[in-house]
Amino acid sequence: MKYKASEILQFVEENDVKFIRLAFCDVYGHQKNIAIMPDELPRAFETGISFAASAVEGFMNVKESDLFLIPDPSTLTVLPWRPSHGRVVRFFCDIRHPDGTPFAGDGRQLLKQAVAELNALGLTCQVGTECEFYLFELDEKGNPTSIPQDRAGYCDIAPLDRGENVRREICLTLEEMGIKPESSHHEHGPGQNEVDFRYSDALTAADNVIHFESVVKTIANRNGLCASFMPKPLADAWGSGLHINLSLFRDGVNIFRTDGYSHNQEAESFIAGILDRICEITLFLNPITNSYRRLGNSEAPGYISWSHQNRSQLIRIPATVGERSRMELRSPDLACNPYLAFTLLIKAGLEGIREHKKLPAPLNLDLFTASEEELQTLQKLPRSLKEALDAAVKSTFLQQVMPEKIRSFYLKAKKEQWKQFKEAEDKQELEHRLYFI
Ligand code: GLN
Ligand code: MG
Ligand code: MG
Ligand code: MG
Repeated sequence: MKYKASEILQFVEENDVKFIRLAFCDVYGHQKNIAIMPDELPRAFETGISFAASAVEGFMNVKESDLFLIPDPSTLTVLPWRPSHGRVVRFFCDIRHPDGTPFAGDGRQLLKQAVAELNALGLTCQVGTECEFYLFELDEKGNPTSIPQDRAGYCDIAPLDRGENVRREICLTLEEMGIKPESSHHEHGPGQNEVDFRYSDALTAADNVIHFESVVKTIANRNGLCASFMPKPLADAWGSGLHINLSLFRDGVNIFRTDGYSHNQEAESFIAGILDRICEITLFLNPITNSYRRLGNSEAPGYISWSHQNRSQLIRIPATVGERSRMELRSPDLACNPYLAFTLLIKAGLEGIREHKKLPAPLNLDLFTASEEELQTLQKLPRSLKEALDAAVKSTFLQQVMPEKIRSFYLKAKKEQWKQFKEAEDKQELEHRLYFI
């Protein structure tokens, strides 16, 4: 559903809407919201609704703590799991300073700017995500356990697969919200599931990831389960990734279309740009200590390489034709802030295009079965939050593309998280485990 600001008030009136949630994300991509009553909506559109930004991770300090939320009318979504009398709707918001200037720490705005840069080169970008998660049982007090919902594996069916009704509810709820899931299945791990999205523009794709996370958590909870997007929630089972499929269009033509195995030069330079900067931006794609337990295991990449259909590599160009042609980046996980992640990928790809970067030869090697000697010649993705942090601290690229406020906050926070992790490795992970991710 897409509405213009002028149509919204009428919609609210006619559809018995009583609560309007003004949603935004903190720097880590965690959704926050303030609910306003319908009478406040005109004011929200005109001047915005203020909130205490100093209480939000990565935002302002107490000395200049007021920021304003301005609802983006095109993001109006009814929350189907709330009552139909006295409905609840949600908007994603732009974040502004009291003088009306945009807040530099607003991830949606950063992504819009990155997309505008692409557009200025005559390119448009489409993004499709594949989202994996685990479903865990609750104990008798309703607290999450580490017991997966079932013992099923990849694409298993009921009764082995006990997730089918939850996936069904998730997909139908998303559809009601105007979001298009394309497919869903049981994944490799016990209790592990996946939902894949149809591609859309980058901002919508990022908004959809945030919608998706709240839908999955809500539906799981309603079914007496706990959903977790933690990258590696069980030490001896498959991790959960966020595969990001990206395609670029020039004059309506997908430039990732392949002619056999040769590609358009710009598409190659875009991929080369991402490969070049991947170490520096991994901190934002895999932002928690637990992310590094997933990378390098169970079909999650550990090396910097690309290939065509080979699933063992960081970037894959799947065997598709026409408008679905794309590159698939397999390293990110859902602990990331999708707005920052997509922004950095687009910026790295843009740099590749501007500098005519050359794509190295594809690596046609199965990295899961390769010998130690073969692997030794390859460049590794960061192996720990510390390695990712070190690469980010040194990065002049990040200095150029990320507002200084976010960059310095994020690096400082991750440094502190690494320190705490080293002090109490397991304790910290368990605390984060099922509540925050
Ligand atoms: N779960 C794997 C990951 O962590 C991917 C497995 C798959 O989708 N084939 O990325
Ligand atoms: Mg998968
Ligand atoms: Mg995939
Ligand atoms: Mg997240």
